Amino acid sequence: MSQIEIVYLTEDPTLLDICQRYWTQADDGQYVEKATAIAVELGVTQNALTKMLSTSCYAVSRQAICKRCQQPMRMFTRAQWQERSTWRGWSCPDCRDIELVETEVISRARQEERQAAQRAALRRDYPFLDSPPIDVDALSFRTTAYLLSFLHSMSTTDSVSFGPATSAPLAPTDDLKSSILVELGQHGLIGIHADKTPFDAFVFDGPRVDAYYPTKAIWYLPSASGERVWRLARRLDESLQVDPWPDEWWDEADDLLHTLALHECLDYFSAALQHYDIEFNPKDKSRENIVHALGLYSIGQVCQHIHSAVRNAAADLAAHKQTRGTAGSSASARIRYYADNALAKGWDIPSRQRFNNAEQSALSKVLLGTVLKIDDAAEWNRRPNQRQTES
Ligand SMILES: [Zn+2]
Repeated sequence: MSQIEIVYLTEDPTLLDICQRYWTQADDGQYVEKATAIAVELGVTQNALTKMLSTSCYAVSRQAICKRCQQPMRMFTRAQWQERSTWRGWSCPDCRDIELVETEVISRARQEERQAAQRAALRRDYPFLDSPPIDVDALSFRTTAYLLSFLHSMSTTDSVSFGPATSAPLAPTDDLKSSILVELGQHGLIGIHADKTPFDAFVFDGPRVDAYYPTKAIWYLPSASGERVWRLARRLDESLQVDPWPDEWWDEADDLLHTLALHECLDYFSAALQHYDIEFNPKDKSRENIVHALGLYSIGQVCQHIHSAVRNAAADLAAHKQTRGTAGSSASARIRYYADNALAKGWDIPSRQRFNNAEQSALSKVLLGTVLKIDDAAEWNRRPNQRQTES
């Protein structure tokens, strides 16, 4: 029979007496007095007795000591005493605090170690680019337009230039931004900054770099002082104005303008869906519908159709004629239908401006402003090679 060791917190003889009566066991291990009986005799509730005891004494057991500082666990009630063996390997509150700090220190050290290895891998996989002079004349139309757009969207300090700056959008959608950055990167015209790019721009497999998100990375133009950026931008700009264009540029420009128009409209579609609180991720079918509408109308007029399509899908949703799951695809289908219908009826479709006056992207400024000389992107609805036949 294990002896209960009692520690007293009081010198008050009455309280000491109550403690002893509460904790005293007979030879068979049963308590001599029932706790309820003690409470009744004292004329107090069971709760009041427990409270009185908890400030006067506690029991300790060799079975319940802190594994770190050996301090015994304080057991204030018979129920706690009954369960003393379940506290084996227990840590006292003070030691638990220390353990938490230690765990945190260890995990932080591990994280730092992991990040150091990852950073080393980034420096190995993305070494600093040399800066051979860029032969602007050798660049394709698309690369020229991409690079000029990148320069327009970067933030330049005296020594290093990074992009794309968040304040100036490179392209209307993240998809198109990615294409631009990846293509410029593949040509070695810009590089991912291994030190400045945040870890979350990469997918690591252990310390190995598995993949990266182009739009999350910090890109730089090799040894680009403000002066060099400015001069290069002027060279690229002049190159786009060259007359006559190299033959292959016409098809490239045509493709790129159609891509830009599609992404301008996709951007508008996303903004409209968000505005009307419709969750929908436009995929291939939506692209087809928009491309179809762009074959009939200008960017601004297609945006007008998109606006009507999303607004009416949202109205149907509010009137319970549409479910939340189908509102987006319904809006997408309406874009094509509205465009066809308006054309068949010969309706005059106004041109709609960018959503919430969002800033025009750098690519759009370059292609529409610099190349086509049209100030209002919404106006674009012609193939670029019509420009010369008209002038
Ligand atoms: Zn302890």
